[in-house]
Amino acid sequence: MKSDLATFIRDIPDFPKKGIIFKDITTLLMHPEALASSSAMFVKLAKGKGISKVAGIESRGFIFGGLMAHKLGAGFVPIRKPNKLPSEKISETYALEYGTDTIEIHTDAIVPGDRVLLHDDLLATGGTAAAAIKLIEKLGGEVVQISFLIELVFLNGRERLKGYDIQSLIKYDAE
Ligand code: AMP
Repeated sequence: MKSDLATFIRDIPDFPKKGIIFKDITTLLMHPEALASSSAMFVKLAKGKGISKVAGIESRGFIFGGLMAHKLGAGFVPIRKPNKLPSEKISETYALEYGTDTIEIHTDAIVPGDRVLLHDDLLATGGTAAAAIKLIEKLGGEVVQISFLIELVFLNGRERLKGYDIQSLIKYDAE
């Protein structure tokens, strides 16, 4: 089903702002077979690697992140937007095309020696994932794999995440 998965993604032009083609994954999530099949593919890629925690990036990274953690027998760690996490936390701020963004993680969510699978729905420039890697590594975790449902190959996010095991199920070579 791998090549078919792309047919479940809906393109929304000019969302959330003009010029962006938003890749809407809700049309895949609502389809039982597509959900089961993509979840099984993610688990196959990550199993046998001794993953102890799956870290998902808010908010769409929570969906497959949670499913994978359960199937891999690992814990789940949310990486969140500012001021959402209630306990002691560390932050990482990164540049966007215009302005900056910040993500946060609880300081006790990762312990030294944790083998971490980082997950988000989509890889674009790689800025968000690079910031998440910094948070995990600051806490002593090892990023064993980074998985995405979608990769926008033409934005070269992979280059920014060099040296890590990057996996994606659906690749777009051009806009
Ligand atoms: P980046 O940091 O540039 O790799 O952007 C990745 C983050 O932005 C992910 O959390 C995505 O959910 C979101 N994102 C970026 N571009 C798109 C897009 N075209 N469609 C949907 N989400 C996107």
